[in-house]
Amino acid sequence: MSFADLSLHPAILANIAAAGYSSPTPIQRQAIPTICKGRDILGIAKTGSGKTASFVLPILQQLIGHSQQEKNRQPKALILVPTRELAMQVSEVAKSLSNQLPRHMSSMAVYGGVSINPQMKALYGVEILIATPGRLLDLQRSNAVDLSKVQILVLDEADKLLNLGFKEEMEEVISLLPDSRQNLLFSATLTDQLESLNRVLLSDPQVIKIAEEGEDTEQLINLSGYFVSDDRKGPLLRHLIKELKMKQVLVFVSSGAKADRIANKLYKNGIEAQAIHGKKSQGARTRALQDFKSGAVQVLVATDLISRGIDINALPFVVNYELPRSPRDFVHRVGRTGRAGDTGLAITFVTRDETHHFKVILKKMKRYMDMVDSTQLEF
Ligand code: AMP
Repeated sequence: MSFADLSLHPAILANIAAAGYSSPTPIQRQAIPTICKGRDILGIAKTGSGKTASFVLPILQQLIGHSQQEKNRQPKALILVPTRELAMQVSEVAKSLSNQLPRHMSSMAVYGGVSINPQMKALYGVEILIATPGRLLDLQRSNAVDLSKVQILVLDEADKLLNLGFKEEMEEVISLLPDSRQNLLFSATLTDQLESLNRVLLSDPQVIKIAEEGEDTEQLINLSGYFVSDDRKGPLLRHLIKELKMKQVLVFVSSGAKADRIANKLYKNGIEAQAIHGKKSQGARTRALQDFKSGAVQVLVATDLISRGIDINALPFVVNYELPRSPRDFVHRVGRTGRAGDTGLAITFVTRDETHHFKVILKKMKRYMDMVDSTQLEF
């Protein structure tokens, strides 16, 4: 199947080609026609499956038919996301796919951590709004946005929205929307909490399930593991960066303080490294991410909260410097590599006393991993 078979507007098809997508991914094949028909959907799909375009494209297709209206503060499509990074990433996809359409379609991301005034001004004329819930409510209370004309609501990474405690804010946002609208719910996993949200929110949805949690259907991600003591992790990381000629590697740790420490240590050893975590200012996070994407920064050291929002095409290496607490976080971390058709390598450091916890994670992922004993290596 090609994108041309999905009955999308020729100008949208041209943008898809310009973005370099050659054929639709499984979630896109299923979701696009259904959403274009106006139906609700519940999409269970991992990040990296192409889910962002699977809702952005049919939103554009539906809105393109509307005649140009007077500019106002009443967006037609609202995409709620859990993090600023994801907001920016979705906004980039929306902008790249809405270039040079027969009529101008404006999209914008709003999120906290930056000053609100420029967002208030810029919201005028926006048709597709991407927002984190808290900032959206602040803007609504200041009359910078009116949600009463939203026709399509997307909850992206709905499981994370619920996990991060946005439930009440989401309910408040939903109460501000018109009753008659299309609802699109996307999540990496289907939790009990999500099931109950789905029941109140969606009407006769088509359920599209691309991959089970922990099931690495594409098998594009190669996994390798090292038994290593805490004090040898730094030298092992530097050794692997050199041996495997890693030009771009995302390293996961458990806390912001640790991320700073490891990035500093790498930097002192002549490796361009930056830390990205929740305690950094939004400006610093955006800069670090841009420098990493451009290749100016070779190693990005991140915490789990940040991991969801990082989207880099074909990231070749991910290192779990420390194990995540849950198998779900592990899936999200390694999902940063091997995206949309490219192979990647995810390396995990395991201390001896974490062996049991690690086995639980692997079992959940239904994957086997060869372990290397790092004491046998010279570095
Ligand atoms: P997502 O699951 O939306 O985070 O998308 C993961 C990555 O896949 C993004 O970097 C997209 O640019 C890319 N992508 C989305 N759709 C396609 C497609 N049909 N072909 C190739 N790459 C795609």
